[in-house]
Amino acid sequence: MRSLLTDSGCRLCPRNCGADREHGKTGFCKVPAELYAARAALHFWEEPCISGERGSGTVFFSGCTLRCVYCQNASIARADAGRRITWERLTEIFLELQEQGAHNINLVTPTHYAPWISKALQRAVDQGLKLPVVYNCGGYEGEESLRWMEGLVDIYLTDFKYIDSALAARYSQAPDYPEEAKKALDRMFQQVGTPVFDGEGMMQKGIIVRHLLLPGALKNAKAVVKYVYETYGDEVYLSLMNQYTPLEGANLPESLNRKVTKREYERLVDYALDLGVTNAFIQEGDTAKESFIPAFEGTGL
Ligand code: SF4
Repeated sequence: MRSLLTDSGCRLCPRNCGADREHGKTGFCKVPAELYAARAALHFWEEPCISGERGSGTVFFSGCTLRCVYCQNASIARADAGRRITWERLTEIFLELQEQGAHNINLVTPTHYAPWISKALQRAVDQGLKLPVVYNCGGYEGEESLRWMEGLVDIYLTDFKYIDSALAARYSQAPDYPEEAKKALDRMFQQVGTPVFDGEGMMQKGIIVRHLLLPGALKNAKAVVKYVYETYGDEVYLSLMNQYTPLEGANLPESLNRKVTKREYERLVDYALDLGVTNAFIQEGDTAKESFIPAFEGTGL
């Protein structure tokens, strides 16, 4: 069988490990060349134009190329939670989510599985998948992983976590995150272009850039907003998130041991408005509740 990775191993993400995943080795993302997922179900906690009334057909994949110290889904990021599935089964899952009435197919943390997801999506389209496909990622995407998605993904729902390289190094072991995220966003924009919505306000095509405000990191957050807005204007939506929660039992640096204050978040929103941002999702009230994190017990796999 033809290798889905390069001759020199896995180069799917900017870690560029070269891990020989097709012979059982693993790299930073901790998974071999097989699909592992933790949950496939309708999900209601994305932005309104993604979740809608009926929910987003979400597949949570295991393993991660970033493994941020403050990760809210740490059990799947570390690949502790997850069940092995074939790409043929993934095709069936996509079609089952469509049957359940999902507004779209939502691939959460897909980067390190891009070739296998691509195969599953192509077959699903051949078998009648009509829904928009959302690539829901950490923003640290290699040229290789995004190439696999060309023509298959309609919506990029991507984080832009850091423009401060020192912060990216401290929290995600990725000092090159800012430069890689800029390149990735550019590639995403070349693939899907400007936003398109249907008559019910559901996104059909486009990009939403998410930024989770971290405690004490307002300067980084403002610089992210400034970069995205000055580069893409109203052609890319921003989603400014305030729900950072220090999880119990996590070994966090002191700087991350509290929630974001109301004042910090308001200052970020005011900054975005002063810049002229109008296409943005903002959060109201206290959304920092652990109950928003779904159970990763293999539902729907
Ligand atoms: S996807 Fe995983 S194995 Fe491949 S380069 Fe990235 S971290 Fe390394």
